[in-house]
Amino acid sequence: MKELVIISGKGGTGKTSLTAALATLAQDAILVDADVDAADLHLILDPSILAESDFKGGHIAVIDQERCEQCGECRDRCQFDAIKVDTIKVDAIKVDAIRQDFTVDQTACEGCGVCVRFCPADAIAFPRRVCGKWFISDTRCGPMIHARLGIAEENSGKLVSLLRKEARDMGAETDAELILIDGPPGIGCPAIASVTGADRALIVTEPTLSSRHDMERAKGLCDFLNVRVMICINKYDIYPEMAAEIERYAEKNGIPMVGKIPYDPVFTAAMIEKKSVMETGLGPAAAAISDIWKGIKEHIQEIEQGATL
Ligand code: SF4
Ligand code: SF4
Repeated sequence: MKELVIISGKGGTGKTSLTAALATLAQDAILVDADVDAADLHLILDPSILAESDFKGGHIAVIDQERCEQCGECRDRCQFDAIKVDTIKVDAIKVDAIRQDFTVDQTACEGCGVCVRFCPADAIAFPRRVCGKWFISDTRCGPMIHARLGIAEENSGKLVSLLRKEARDMGAETDAELILIDGPPGIGCPAIASVTGADRALIVTEPTLSSRHDMERAKGLCDFLNVRVMICINKYDIYPEMAAEIERYAEKNGIPMVGKIPYDPVFTAAMIEKKSVMETGLGPAAAAISDIWKGIKEHIQEIEQGATL
């Protein structure tokens, strides 16, 4: 079983559309939407959810009001200003009859655990925080593992690792040959979690200066993680000179160029119809993607024949 991750270094290069098109061609791949901060592969592949589970990320402090002795130690220790104090008058006549309720602002708590460690009354629980949900689904192109992360939630790298592990477990059970991962943009934590341990990364770029820069950053990440890359250029014909420059860069660095996709409005039309480009009838983009798929398969065969990674 091989793992191919599709990345771009930035969003908006057509990465997800290409992943969906390759999923259509592969048919028997296990699909992973690792772009958990802005998942959108499901918009094209329209999955039927078979199972869903909570994703628990970091911890959160919760104060038990029954046990709390109102000493204020947690408020003084918290570096994130996450302990709030409500002063409540408990007797309308006595001036000094007040009570202070210490509570945790759940949006401010960073889950560092300091208050838990120093609370003298052992009044602070520290449960795991539910940050989102992840799903095992069925699609017309094969099984898909994907997730929905809560708004502004972190731990996306951890979630990506979880999705990939589930895909590998499923692959081991079903003898699947390929895991196809729609990676996140950028080179941050979720991108690292998507690329680490993959057999190959396909970088999708566009012929613009910023895209080229992002492609080089993505290549740097893959080099660092010892994952070999392939490159394809989307909309290469909108700026052929820059596309040629990218090709020269690939050649100079020994990176296989698996194909160039021309600008084709079918990308948008397909997305609106919840279809992949390969399902909308053959056009220039679909023909180019067919060639890209052939190139990818050759590289996968290379790995099977023992090429060094
Ligand atoms: S440290 Fe513990 S006992 Fe003190 S105010 Fe905070 S929760 Fe209450
Ligand atoms: S866990 Fe850390 S961030 Fe959260 S309330 Fe306690 S001290 Fe503050």
